[in-house]
Amino acid sequence: MHHDIPTITEDGRLMIKKAAADGVETVWDRYKAQLPQCGFCELGLSCRNCVMGPCRIDPFGEGPQKGVCGADADIIVARNLGRMIAAGAALTPITEEISLKCFEASPKIEPLDTRSPAKTN
Ligand code: SF4
Repeated sequence: MHHDIPTITEDGRLMIKKAAADGVETVWDRYKAQLPQCGFCELGLSCRNCVMGPCRIDPFGEGPQKGVCGADADIIVARNLGRMIAAGAALTPITEEISLKCFEASPKIEPLDTRSPAKTN
């Protein structure tokens, strides 16, 4: 997420200016304080779903291509997305309905068989 101009609305610009003048911290101040953000996290290529991690996948192909459990980039990204959607679904019934539609529209992914010898190498 990169934002040089944090809002496209005039009202928003006025609000941000007023907040700055009043010394009120906004989401944009906290966002700027986090820069540069973690590239692995931004790409969804980091995982901390279990105690064997955290793990990360090198998007340039020079470093690790699998987490400790054998999950590759596709699995980690899909799993992270699924977990985010599930967490969002817990927020409101409307979000839940949208999330279910996302799941229904998403391509079917074969479950990872962690007992497979091919996945334990
Ligand atoms: S990639 Fe696998 S081993 Fe690494 S933290 Fe995630 S679930 Fe655990």
